[in-house]
Formats: sequence, structure tokens, C-alpha cells
Amino acid sequence: MAELRIQGLSKHFGAHTVLRGIDLTVASGSLVAILGPSGSGKTTLLRLLCGFERADGGSIALNGRIVSSAADHVPPEQRRIGYVPQEGALFPHLSVAENIVFGLPRQERRARHRVQELLELVGLSADYANRPPQQLSGGQQQRVALARALAPSPALVLLDEPFSALDAALRAETREAVADALSAAGATAVLVTHDQSEALSMGHQVAVLWDGRLVQVASPEQLYRQPANPELARFIGDAV
Ligand code: ADP
Repeated sequence: MAELRIQGLSKHFGAHTVLRGIDLTVASGSLVAILGPSGSGKTTLLRLLCGFERADGGSIALNGRIVSSAADHVPPEQRRIGYVPQEGALFPHLSVAENIVFGLPRQERRARHRVQELLELVGLSADYANRPPQQLSGGQQQRVALARALAPSPALVLLDEPFSALDAALRAETREAVADALSAAGATAVLVTHDQSEALSMGHQVAVLWDGRLVQVASPEQLYRQPANPELARFIGDAV
């Protein structure tokens, strides 16, 4: 999978500046957690990465290919990005297997072994393939959503608060399954969350977004031991 490089990215809505010069590099095969309170700009950043919005300044490159800059705007469907939303992402009238292959070219949709491989990757037994998604727990449904995101071998996987609808018991187990699957797939991934413990437990790096600025990019250990300022120390402290 690809390296992601974001340079000087900015975005405003009218007079309201939402992102103020974001610089971030995500190494190939690693997971960065973007951690920030509500309103800090996380969703806007994801929308720029997907290509649903255009930036006002800066650039985004995937494996050296510019997908967004003053001169370029590669449309979402050509960016090879897999997306895992909060919840409710699966089509209720399709089976688990049909959901997983939904985005694949028609000739690849019949590949049963690919479905089995993806189910195995996310830690679900092949028995789930023909069930409707409603028969699965919320955590299992999110694993299927990840399998679907990984099916076309994307360059980058974006996860938008993927565990927020799960209760605490399911959340821990699902986090682990998702982290293992991303790692086994060698995925380059960006996880967006307002949950400190989630960012610290899942991110290889944690990038803290505060009022449209990245105030710290560090390993979970570094961030925990040496938060950049007292406000951030309090925010991180809330996790424990
Ligand atoms: P987060 O996901 O961290 O909660 P958002 O990216 O949703 O943050 O929002 C950041 C700020 O940008 C908020 O103040 C929000 O009101 C504003 N914002 C987001 N989208 C729009 C939009 N389409 N038009 C105007 N303001 C927006």
C-alpha cells in the first residue's frame, strides 16, 4: 500500500478557517490515529482525503502521486481509498458476501475464495458469508465493513470513528480485530477519533488535531509522556 503525504493543507468555509496548514506523512503499512475533540476538523480532513471536498491550499499525495493540489483534483472514485464509516454501512438486502464484493468489478464478484480470505482476515468464520448483516453483532458488522473496504486492495484505508456505536465490551474486541486485519493486510490507514484511549491503543502514530492545527504528531508513548501543552495533557489524561 501507499505512503500518504499531506503538505500545508488548508480549508475554510466562508470566513471560518477549519484546517490551517496540515503537514502529515503516514508511512506505507502504518496506521495514524487523528485524535481531536468535536469541531477540531477531523471530518473535514477525511472529506479532503476522499476528494469529497476541495482544499483551499496545500497538497495530498498517495505514493508520490498528487491527488489534490491547486492544479489537481483526482475524483474520489479514482483515488483507490477504502472507507469504513461509523455504522450502518452495510446493505441490509444483500448477504455478507455480496456486501463484501459490492465495489469490485463484475467479473471479480464471483470469487468465493476472495470473500473467504477477507472474512478470515477480519476474524470471521466463512459461515457468515451467506447471512444477512442484521444477524451479526455491531462489531461483526464493522468487521464486514472493513472487509468490504479492503476488497479492492485500496491504496489507503480511512476509518471514521468506526467503533463509536459499539458498547464497551464489543469495542475492545473489535478494535483488536480491526488492528490485526489492517496489519495483516499491510494497510496504510488513517483512523479518526475523539476517543483518547482508542487513538493511543491503535495508532502507530497519533496526530492531535486542535482547532484546525496538528499540535503534536508522536508515538502513543511519547504523547502520553510528553504532551505538547497542558491542555493536551488534560485531554490525554482523561483517557485513563
Ligand atoms: P470534527 O469532525 O472534528 O467534529 P468537522 O470537520 O466536522 O470537525 O468541523 C470543523 C468545523 O468546521 C466546525 O466548526 C464545523 O461547524 C465547520 N464545518 C464543517 N463543515 C462545514 C460546512 N460544510 N460549512 C460550514 N462549516 C463547516
